Parts: sequence; structure tokens; C-alpha cells
Amino acid sequence: MFEKLLIANRGEIALRIQRACRELGIKTVVVHSQADTEAKYVKLADESVCIGPPSSRDSYLNVPAIISAAEVSDAEAIHPGYGFLAENADFAERVEKSGFVFIGPRPESIRLMGDKVSAKDAMIKAGVPVVPGSEGALPEDPKEVLRVARSVGYPVIVKAAGGGGGRGMRVVHTEAALLNAVTMTRTEAQAAFNNPTVYLEKFLENPRHIEIQVLADEYRNAVYLGERDCSMQRRHQKIIEEGPAPGIARRLLDRIGSRCAEACRKIGYRGAGTFEFLFENGEFYFIEMNTRVQVEHPVTELITGIDIVQEQIRIAAGEKLRFRQRDITIRGHAIECRINAEDPWKFTPSPGRITAWHPPGGPGIRVDSHVYTNYVVPPNYDSMIAKVLAYGDTREQAIRRMRIALSEMAVDGIQTNLALHRELLADAHFVTGGTSIHYLERKLALRGA
Ligand code: ADP
Repeated sequence: MFEKLLIANRGEIALRIQRACRELGIKTVVVHSQADTEAKYVKLADESVCIGPPSSRDSYLNVPAIISAAEVSDAEAIHPGYGFLAENADFAERVEKSGFVFIGPRPESIRLMGDKVSAKDAMIKAGVPVVPGSEGALPEDPKEVLRVARSVGYPVIVKAAGGGGGRGMRVVHTEAALLNAVTMTRTEAQAAFNNPTVYLEKFLENPRHIEIQVLADEYRNAVYLGERDCSMQRRHQKIIEEGPAPGIARRLLDRIGSRCAEACRKIGYRGAGTFEFLFENGEFYFIEMNTRVQVEHPVTELITGIDIVQEQIRIAAGEKLRFRQRDITIRGHAIECRINAEDPWKFTPSPGRITAWHPPGGPGIRVDSHVYTNYVVPPNYDSMIAKVLAYGDTREQAIRRMRIALSEMAVDGIQTNLALHRELLADAHFVTGGTSIHYLERKLALRGA
């Protein structure tokens, strides 16, 4: 096992990784920007290195600064967390070339999955179902483009191969609008992702977002750790996640789960990963793979009892997976609410000093957060300040516990989306379970009207 690990991230995930390290007996080095100097997790780490000014570009995305911090602190491995450099294949390569262990997949796997066209192609080859669409990139010839769309059937969605974060996509309802949409998406994709490649697929009208968590080791052993339903989204940002997915037959989930584990073996995937699917009319359609730990990983930790971050570190250290598929059992139900520093209805960010912080507690409650009373939420980064999780024997119990947790929780000095979560936990459709990815936006639109 490593003696010392560098955490190339900030906020709650920097603290989460630190806790995993502490349990494994690994010393931690945290890098931070000038905006995060006072953060408690920076003080809790064994060592810390300031790597630049507040702007992410000059700090958390500053590769040379991070590598030199690892050199001066004698760290052996680097954990990238999520966001920032976590899915940057060039960074993973730089880390390894500089003689450190990257806690994550091989750079080739990140690259393969980072391009949506090559990812989709790899999934087809590995037997994972994908959304019907163009075979690979769309050709230049307009006649061909029209033919592909006609055979897929409208509505279609035109997507940039290099897209991410919900950008670089355009829905097209009629043939008349297609060619213009393709040209516009190409131009935007070139400007935003430096890659004009676009592809096309069937636009699913009312899907759910279901994702499969996997773990794979160096030696082609791979398991899936059940699924999470992340359909409660606004602008492609997940707000509530839960597992197991309500109302889907275990048989269907197991079938797709084992396909994902099999795909990991086929592509030689290593580490933790997530296969994201749209689910409609009983069918799963792969949309992308995330080659990192996800924000919502604690949902899976609560229902499987497996510490995903510790397993990531063990795998990177060259250990064999410590369990087989039959050793993994899903028990109970977990729900996660992402608490953001933002206006709960207008969604404008609300950075500033937290004058009072009262997190919830009690049976089945887990709070992953780096904030405290008098903490100043910097304006420079993502607005998430906490993840509140509720676990129960049943979904009903998890919902009841979450309602209590949200009612106990109080944050003063800044605005948060707590009120939105309280409303959603009382929403009849959420309580029934199985709402689509459009549910929240439609609900918010009605409220506005
Ligand atoms: P990104 O990498 O930008 O997150 P994804 O491919 O994961 O892109 O798609 C983001 C979101 O766009 C999905 O969660 C879904 O809401 C929507 N979307 C993507 N593809 C389709 C599709 N074929 N049909 C309907 N919605 C889609």
C-alpha cells in the first residue's frame, strides 16, 4: 500500500478521499488554491501545498503545479476526485510518466470513453445496448445525413463526439431542420471541444437516467455494484440520486449490470467507473461512461457496504478485487440530496459566509460535507456544499428519514436549495418513484407559470 497520497481536488471529495486514506493508514497531501487556504480539510491533511490563485485554470487545473507538489511532498500516488482533471487522459499520462500512480483507469481507457463516438463503438463491440443512431461519426455528405436520420426516425439528437457537461447537443424534430442543426453543432463543437465530429441518435422522449457502478482490477476481474437512479435533474445536473432504482425488475438490472462488468473485462478497464444509461419502455440505452468516482457514489456505498474510494486506492496499488459478483448483496435503500449554495428557485449561485451550519443526524443519515459555521463558500467553484444521504430498510423508510433530516438541517448566511429538496421529498410523483429526466424541469416550469 502507498505511504503517501496527493489529493488533486477540493471541497467535500477532498475530505472524502482523506478519510479513505486515513482508514488505510496512508498519509495525505492536499493541494489547494489561495481561495481554499482556510478550509478545514486543508488543515486536517498531513500536508498541504498551495498551487496557485483562486481561478481553477491556475490552480486545480494547473498540471505542472500539481506534479511539482507531488514531487516536493514525496507522494506516491495522485487521486483526482471528480471534475477538474479526473477525466483528462493527458493528465493521467503525465502523472504516470512523472513516476506517480494515477488513481484511476489507464489513460487509453479515459481517452476511449472521453470520445463519445469511440465509446459508443466500444460498447457495441462489448455487447452493451446503445441508443440507435448513426454508425460512428456523421458523414459530410448532406444526402447521407438525411438518409441516416430518416432510418433512425425523428425526433433525433445531434451530439458532439467531444461533448460533455450537457453541452454540444441539439434535438431535431423535423427533416427540414436537420442539416442546419448538424452544421451548427459542428461549428460549436469545433469551438468548444476543438473537435468538429458529430453523431446522431434517436431522441428518447421520456427516459429515466439509470447508471451502473462498476469496479475492476488490473487482472480483468470486474463486478457491478448495482445501480443508481439519477433522473431528478435540472439542466443535466443531478439533484437527487437513489438506489436501487424503483420499479425496475431486478432481473433486468442484473442483466445490464453483468453486461457492464463483462465490458470492463473486454476493454481491460481498471478502477471505479459508471456506465450511464437512458431507460425507456423496459430497455437500457448506453449514453456514456464516467471513468472516475462520482458525486453520488455514497448511495452505492450505503446499499452495498463497500467503500468505493478505498477500493479505488487498493486497485491502483495493484491489489486484486477482494470480492466476486456473488459476494455483493444490495441491502435496503439509499437517497442522496445535493445541497447547493444557490437560490432554490432561480438557481443563481449564492457564495459567501455561512453564519450558522446545522447538519442533520440520527439513524441512517450520512452527511458528506467540508463546510462549517463561518466557512466562506468561494465564488470560484461548483456550488455544491453538502451531500445528505438517508438509508433505510425500504425506500419508504429512506424517504421518511430524509424528510426528517431536511427538516432538521439549517444553513444561514447564504441561500441553499434545501427548500427545493423539502418540496421534492413531499412530491407525490417522486414518492411513487420512476419519474423521467424531464420531470423536475416540467415541475419548475409549472411553478413559474
Ligand atoms: P454529457 O456528457 O454532456 O453529460 P450525455 O451523453 O451524458 O452528455 O447526455 C446528457 C443528457 O442529455 C442525458 O442525461 C439526457 O438527459 C440527454 N440525452 C442525451 N442523449 C439523449 C437521447 N438520445 N435521447 C434523449 N435524451 C438524451
